[in-house]
Amino acid sequence: MAKRSSGGPGGARPVPASVSRREVLRGLSAASLLAAAASGSAVARALAPSRTGPRVVVVGAGAFGAFSALSLLRRGARVTLLDAWGPGNSRASSGGETRVIRGVYGADRIYVEMVARAFDLWRDNERRWKRTLYHRTGAIWLVTGPDDYIRAAMPLLSERGFPFEELTTAEARRRWPQIDYEGVRWVFREERAGYLLARQACAAAVEGFRSEGGEYRETPAEPGPLRGGALSGLRLPDGSALAADAYVFACGPWLPKIFPDLMGGTIQPTRQEVFFFGTPSGDARFSEGMMPVWVDFGPRLFYGIPGNEGRGFKVADDSRGSPFDPTGGDRIASADGLRAAREFLGRRFPAMKGAPLTESRVCQYENTVDHRFILDRHPGAANAWIAGGGSGHGFKMGPAVGERVADLVLGRAPVDPFFALSRLSKTPSGAGRPGSTEAFS
Ligand SMILES: Cc1cc2nc3c(=O)[nH]c(=O)nc-3n(C[C@H](O)[C@H](O)[C@H](O)COP(=O)(O)OP(=O)(O)OC[C@H]3O[C@@H](n4cnc5c(N)ncnc54)[C@H](O)[C@@H]3O)c2cc1C
Repeated sequence: MAKRSSGGPGGARPVPASVSRREVLRGLSAASLLAAAASGSAVARALAPSRTGPRVVVVGAGAFGAFSALSLLRRGARVTLLDAWGPGNSRASSGGETRVIRGVYGADRIYVEMVARAFDLWRDNERRWKRTLYHRTGAIWLVTGPDDYIRAAMPLLSERGFPFEELTTAEARRRWPQIDYEGVRWVFREERAGYLLARQACAAAVEGFRSEGGEYRETPAEPGPLRGGALSGLRLPDGSALAADAYVFACGPWLPKIFPDLMGGTIQPTRQEVFFFGTPSGDARFSEGMMPVWVDFGPRLFYGIPGNEGRGFKVADDSRGSPFDPTGGDRIASADGLRAAREFLGRRFPAMKGAPLTESRVCQYENTVDHRFILDRHPGAANAWIAGGGSGHGFKMGPAVGERVADLVLGRAPVDPFFALSRLSKTPSGAGRPGSTEAFS
C-alpha cells in the first residue's frame, strides 16, 4: 500500500524560475489576508467590506469542483463556478451514470475517514435537494487472489461503524445463486456500500450551488500570468479576464494541459472502457434489489453495478488503459475490451452469457503515480489551488474533497502531506502499481 509522504503543508516547494522569492512571500501574505478574511478579522473586513467573504473562482464542475464550490459558498465565500462543457459532461471523469461508493480502502485510514464524511454529506445533500443519488445495494468482493487489502480495512471499518461480514462461498451461493464462484476463496460483504448517480449528482450539486447563491457559467477558462507570487486572473475565450481573491482548478484529466510545467508528469489520463449488458426479460436477478455492487477481486479486477434505470448490467475492467486525451480522444469502445468483458461476464454470471451489449462508454481515469489525490496550493501562486488526481476512485469522495478544498482556500486547515503535490516529485517515475487494486473505484 502507498505510504504517507513526509512532505508538509508549509514545506519547501519548487517555485518556477520566473517567480522570485520576494514575489512568493508577497503572494503568501495575500493568502494570509485571505485566511483572515475567512475568519472575520479586522484586516479581513478591509478586504471584504461587504462581509460576504472572499471571491473565489472554481474552474471545473465535476465531482471535485462542484462540491468545492458548494462548500466554499456554504462557508461564506462569494463563488463563481466555471465549466467548459457542463457538470458531469460526457468528456469529464465524472460523466456517465453510476459510481461505486464503498469504505474498503486497505490500511489507508485517511480515505476511510473521508468516505465516512462523504456518506454523511451525500445524505445531507440528498435531503436538501429532495432527491436520491446514493443507492444502498451493499457490495460483495469475490476474493480470488490475495486478501490483505480487505483484511487491513476491517479494523478501520469497524472503528467507523461500517457493517460488514465474511462469507464462505457456500453461504454466498445461497444468497446470490446467479454467480458462479469458480476460483473464489471467500466473499466479503460491505453493507453500506452501493452506488451513486454520477452525472446527475454533478448536475444536482451545481443546481444546489446556484439555488444557494453561487454563480455558474458554462465557459472554458485558462490561468493568466503569475505576478508577485500570485495568479493574476483567468482568461476567458472572449478575451475578457476574470479576477478573484483565490482560484481553484478542479479540471480533472485536463490539469496537465492547464499547468503543463507543473502537472505534466504528475497526472496521467488513461482510457477506461465500461460496458452495459441487457438482462434477460422478466429476470430481476441482475438488477438492484437482488444484486449488489460486485468486485471480482483478483489479479485482474473487474467490477460492476446492477442495472439501474433500465440501463443494463454494468461491467468494467479496472486495469489502467492506454494514455488518453480527454478533449479529442476517440470514445468508441475497443473490440478487445468488449471481448474481455463478455468473456468475464459469461464465466462469472452464466445466465448473462451472450447477453447483448446495450451501451458502452469510454471515460478516463486521471491517475497520479501513487493513486492519491492532489489537494494543494500551486507552488508558484499563493492564491491558486489544485484539486484533482481522482485516479479512478475519487467520485464517492466529492463532497468530502469539497470540504477539504474549502478549508484549504479559506486558511482553515493546512495541506495534508498525503495529498501534497511535493510528494509526487519524490516518487520515482513508474512507481505505484497501475492496474493494481490499491486504488480501485
Ligand atoms: C470509468 C470510470 C469509473 C470510475 N469509477 C469510480 C467509482 O466507481 N467510484 C469512484 O469513487 N470513482 C470512480 N471513478 C473516478 C471518479 O469518477 C473521478 O475520480 C472523479 O469523477 C474526478 O472528478 P474531477 O472533478 O476531478 O474531474 P472531472 O469530472 O473530469 O471534472 C473536471 C471538469 O473540468 C472541466 N474543465 C476542464 N478544463 C476546463 C477549463 N479550461 N475551463 C473550464 N472547465 C474545464 C471539465 O469540463 C470537467 O467537467 C471512475 C472514473 C471513471 C472514468
